[in-house]
Amino acid sequence: MALKREPHVLVVGGSDSSGGAGIARDIETISSIGVRTCLALTAVTVQTHDTVRDIRHLQPGLVADQMRAALQANEVAAIKIGMLATAEIIAAVAAVLLEIPQVPAILDPVLTSTSGRALLEADAVVAMKRELMPLCRLVTPNLIELALLVASELAPDEDGAVLQGQELLNAGVQALLIKGGHASGPRSTDILLRSNQEPIRFDTSRLAASMRGTGCMFASAIAAQLANARPLEDSVCKAKLFVFEKLQKQAAE
Ligand code: PLP
Repeated sequence: MALKREPHVLVVGGSDSSGGAGIARDIETISSIGVRTCLALTAVTVQTHDTVRDIRHLQPGLVADQMRAALQANEVAAIKIGMLATAEIIAAVAAVLLEIPQVPAILDPVLTSTSGRALLEADAVVAMKRELMPLCRLVTPNLIELALLVASELAPDEDGAVLQGQELLNAGVQALLIKGGHASGPRSTDILLRSNQEPIRFDTSRLAASMRGTGCMFASAIAAQLANARPLEDSVCKAKLFVFEKLQKQAAE
């Protein structure tokens, strides 16, 4: 079969049986932006919208094999990484990324579910920071994930979050999108941080709506825009609007 030249996003992450988050959300989001997807599954989770009942990890070699096959089969123009589950899977994913430095990877550093279950083993956080984050074009933590990644308390304000983000840049992260969705106040502000560049703020009004899987959706929408050859800043701006419109629709229902 001839290689498919249409740009694809390679989705690397876990399944969520409820469909609220994980790869189902990713595929839905990327498809609705008109970009095709291919897949590398890292874990199978048994979930309802309220609870995570079970988690089964895939073998790291199987994750890497899926990635390499997807890359061979398609024109992969961006990679979206979500739930990674273990340090061994992180190492396997990092090894593949090292083979394809030209393909931008967006990492949503999934640590726990909203219901409080760990989706990444505790000893894997260091591996994620050291081995994987520096290989990614963008990492998209929310304020809670950011604090956990720098082993600190939740930042008290925006300046505090920028300081925490700076710590990750100093540790080799290329770019960070700090998502302010978990903060309070009338505005929802996300901050794009890059070394030696002024932070860029993306701001919408805060809606009285909550939805599972918005983190998956945001990172997937950014990856789809990058796959469409848009610059990073523009991709983040379009993706934020995409999530805002989904929340607006949910609020109206
Ligand atoms: N399950 C999987 C497979 C995920 O990838 C994620 C988040 O990325 C979650 C669950 C958590 O979603 P939520 O915080 O909306 O429960």
